[in-house]
Amino acid sequence: MDPGRLLDDIREGYRMTEQEATSLLNIRGREVFSILAAADDMREKKAGNIITYVRNQNIHITNICKNLCGFCGFGKSPGDEGAYCNDREEIEKKVALAVERKVTEICLLSGVHPDFTIDSYEEILAWVTRAAPGVHVHAFSPDEVAHASDRSGLSTIGVLERLQKAGLGSLQGTAAEILVDDVRSVICPNKLNTHDWTKIIREAHRMKIPTTATIMYGSYENAPERAKHLSILREIQDETRGFTELVPLTYIHTGTPLYQQGIARAGATGLEDILLIAVSRLFLDNFKNIQVSWGKLGLKMSELSLASGANDFAGTMFADDVSRDAGAESAEYLDPVVMERIAKDLRRQLRQRTTLYDLL
Ligand code: SF4
Repeated sequence: MDPGRLLDDIREGYRMTEQEATSLLNIRGREVFSILAAADDMREKKAGNIITYVRNQNIHITNICKNLCGFCGFGKSPGDEGAYCNDREEIEKKVALAVERKVTEICLLSGVHPDFTIDSYEEILAWVTRAAPGVHVHAFSPDEVAHASDRSGLSTIGVLERLQKAGLGSLQGTAAEILVDDVRSVICPNKLNTHDWTKIIREAHRMKIPTTATIMYGSYENAPERAKHLSILREIQDETRGFTELVPLTYIHTGTPLYQQGIARAGATGLEDILLIAVSRLFLDNFKNIQVSWGKLGLKMSELSLASGANDFAGTMFADDVSRDAGAESAEYLDPVVMERIAKDLRRQLRQRTTLYDLL
């Protein structure tokens, strides 16, 4: 493969194959920079010259989790030191604070509590939507939908219907990690498999519940497996147009069992991080938005990612215990003033958006 010719073809509208994406993901050294430049051109064409962000707050419900994935430093077993499950009062207190901060989105993040049923999820949604009327609730992963289905004897469509009725605004595209079962059996053996993840996401999209799409890379998978994952996302997006954005999540290795046991490597390198963003931009020709996870990447790598195909700064967040517990250094609150400084440096305009990308 001649990368220069491929990039020219892509600029002319050619749709890259999975094998070509693999080849680009394997490139190292200075050749990477021509890929970044092509991705930045594509970003301009697809998403213009604005950088968006959402004013949101993460609220963690519980870190007790049935899955205990090897790449995660957050999930705990019941009774472990530091295990918690917030009650109604605690959750309402956090929601009140989010409302005071004038957020437009509340993002519920949680372990998959072994005892939660559809009633638990509905109850949590009721507390949140009552305490924050009009605020978009972005919550729950396909794994939580599958868990609620198993525990409650409902179909996954039945679970989604109940969640939608209870005020769910959009579903999280998390628990995707790498959508290749040979990888999943090592990094997250207790989570739902690729077939079930894609089934639940398609069901949500058909019900007009939008979702994000994520990729958690840099632990155990190789380039063909990353490309396979992107290919699955592109295929679903062709069918449903239900993904709002891609959220690349770089593996934070320090506090995780997979790294401590010598199974995973020490995360992606900086070049790999921006290359993943760039190749995603070039490959996912049916996605408008690619986000940077500043809590994991740090601000300087986030800026480089925004110059390599990404167009969205994610949210103000106000807390990210998941990244912090895995060893990330900067995972609390990002002031839009800081985002503005970076946007100016990139000669782009910063704009606040809703969860579904309407500009405010
Ligand atoms: S990644 Fe999610 S599902 Fe896996 S252990 Fe952590 S909190 Fe639980």
